[in-house]
Amino acid sequence: MQAAVVGAGITGITTAYYLARAGYSVTIYDERKYPAMATSYANGGQLSASNAEVWNSWRSVYKGIKWLSKKDAPLKINPWPSIDKYSWFFKFIKEIPNADTNTQRTCEMALEAHNLYKKIAFEEDIQFDKVEKGILHIYTNEAEYENAKRVNEVYAKAGLNRWEVSADECIKIEPALVRPPKLLGGMYNDTDFTGDIHKFCVELLKVLQRKYDVKMRQIKIRNLKSDLHEHQGPVVVCAGVESKMLASTIGDNLPIYPVKGYSITIHDPKVAPWTSLLDDEAKIVTSRLGKDRLRIAGTAEFNGYNTDIIQTRIKPLINWAEKMFPGINTENITPWAGLRPMMPNMMPVVNRSRNSKRIYYNTGHGHLGWTLSAYTAQSIVEQIRGKND
Ligand SMILES: Cc1cc2nc3c(=O)[nH]c(=O)nc-3n(C[C@H](O)[C@H](O)[C@H](O)COP(=O)(O)OP(=O)(O)OC[C@H]3O[C@@H](n4cnc5c(N)ncnc54)[C@H](O)[C@@H]3O)c2cc1C
Repeated sequence: MQAAVVGAGITGITTAYYLARAGYSVTIYDERKYPAMATSYANGGQLSASNAEVWNSWRSVYKGIKWLSKKDAPLKINPWPSIDKYSWFFKFIKEIPNADTNTQRTCEMALEAHNLYKKIAFEEDIQFDKVEKGILHIYTNEAEYENAKRVNEVYAKAGLNRWEVSADECIKIEPALVRPPKLLGGMYNDTDFTGDIHKFCVELLKVLQRKYDVKMRQIKIRNLKSDLHEHQGPVVVCAGVESKMLASTIGDNLPIYPVKGYSITIHDPKVAPWTSLLDDEAKIVTSRLGKDRLRIAGTAEFNGYNTDIIQTRIKPLINWAEKMFPGINTENITPWAGLRPMMPNMMPVVNRSRNSKRIYYNTGHGHLGWTLSAYTAQSIVEQIRGKND
């Protein structure tokens, strides 16, 4: 049995893994020579069921409007008219009534994925700088803190225990953190974890090529029908922000928008947190990737497909690190920018094409592709097996 996967990011590599385990001979097509060189390269590192809350809310809409004129705001929208962008916003607003249901489902998928990642890492002996110290969300805004308490109830229905901690307890959980003046408190869970997504993909692909019948070919697929017509068996599209264009070649409409984000990797940080943090007001996350690296990521920019690294977006991440962890060594930093493949309802697309019996999608994971992929990959392969075996 043959199968093809388009894209060698986290969604593609995990899909290839479950296809190979199900006995398929798999070819991964990627336009890049090496795996995980696009969005799965230097993200925030969090495997975070506790960040499953979808962004569809009137609070996000008002904040977005308020931040429009602020240069270093966590959210930036290029107001230049674009049909794709404005129809995406329209669909985003239409999904607000479904926010809690979608948050609960995302949290359930994330918890399933946690177990699957641990199983893969154990069975295939994958090292990816995993740190299991939970995630601490910190709050300086009263309304957001109140909302977080409400969201805890939604998470509880999904099976996640995230609890409230005082400002003093936040510092006890993460002693490297200097108490921000307006810190109200935090939300903590000890089951989320962090790790290097790029390392995981690279190491898992090595295992796939060594132990299973999987190969990777460097080809840019431009048309799902004509470029893959000689290929037998199912094709799974895992092409991140390019999935929309590929889907359109067979008449499918995937309203994925590229939401740009930035990260810095601080090498040899000296003073740095081990517990993963999420600063709710700044929308910044941190992950310790072993003792020598700290990853800090954030910002959401609606500005098309460009991945330019803009200094005015990098500087706030460095300033934030220096403010939160005095004494941190920021001498050696690697900046990066990537595009989150974001659906307007923030839910991944994990289903078969409407227009082709052998084309499937596992894509559109937005800000949670690392968190969710092991689960969605397993699900799409179950769908394929149900239909093809
Ligand atoms: C700043 C930032 C921080 C983030 N932090 C987190 C986090 O902490 N936790 C979390 O869970 N998620 C996080 N994310 C989101 C996560 O990184 C993404 O959801 C995930 O990496 C997307 O993976 P993917 O496989 O869908 O896409 P990609 O990694 O982009 O992979 C797609 C692949 O398809 C290939 N491709 C595309 N088009 C074609 C074509 N036509 N032919 C052949 N190959 C093609 C590309 O070369 C690429 O290798 C973050 C994202 C950003 C930007």
